[in-house]
Amino acid sequence: MGRVVFIGAGPGAADLITVRGAHLLAQAEVVLFDALTDPALRNLAPRARWINVGKRGFCDSIGQSLINALLVKHANERNVVVRLKGGDPSVFGRLEEELEALAHAGIECEVVPGVTAAIAAAAATQRPLTRRGQGRSVSLTTAMTREGRLLAVRTADTEVYYMAGRQLAALSRRLLACGWTGDAPASVVSRAGWSDTLHSDHTVSNLGRAAMLHAGRPTVVTVGAGAAPISHATRAAAAAAVGGTAIADSASPN
Ligand code: SAH
Repeated sequence: MGRVVFIGAGPGAADLITVRGAHLLAQAEVVLFDALTDPALRNLAPRARWINVGKRGFCDSIGQSLINALLVKHANERNVVVRLKGGDPSVFGRLEEELEALAHAGIECEVVPGVTAAIAAAAATQRPLTRRGQGRSVSLTTAMTREGRLLAVRTADTEVYYMAGRQLAALSRRLLACGWTGDAPASVVSRAGWSDTLHSDHTVSNLGRAAMLHAGRPTVVTVGAGAAPISHATRAAAAAAVGGTAIADSASPN
């Protein structure tokens, strides 16, 4: 009996996987991967058998129980099975179900972290999620409940919403209802970490305008302190400190 290594592939380009993740991926005999992972990652394990189990809502759907069963089956037949997940496996990745299924079957597991979409979006837009004096807390939230309802409850100075890309107008209404002011900054980033990343700036009240631009692309919405561009004074000081030039105002597309 082998073991299963869960590896966070990161949000986009293959080089955003961790060195540890790449090292373990190279040892894989079988890789079960999600639709969002970069095909270039295959070069890290060219001899492995790659099985696509992606479950994007608008693509072919494979049930979670089938994925669990495939993990157990391959772990029983091979030494190293990799479960490659987009971003970080622990963030909206159904890791719990898969770990439980493997524990139930007595199969050893390891989890290697990855760069989650919220962090990749912060990097792409150069907007730190925490801000001294204004942003002391960050929440990662899925806008969708298990029943498919949209829900928002204000919990942090900076909130990052996953899986809301198709309901931005409704999210705007929910955010207003749960206490955000209409002029609070909202930064929308799709395909963060890829070469075709898009970024647009909004306020909570006009967030719905982002829908067309980001349609059909994996998207995160950052609201509050961490959504605001850093001030010109801060940028100039940062650029001076490294001997460079101040970066331009946030652009759309990014
Ligand atoms: N485990 C992943 C999240 C999976 S849930 C992670 O840690 O990032 C899928 C949702 O993640 C998408 O609906 C979208 O909201 C977000 N997402 C994934 N990749 C993204 C990317 N490259 N850019 C922006 N959002 C992304």
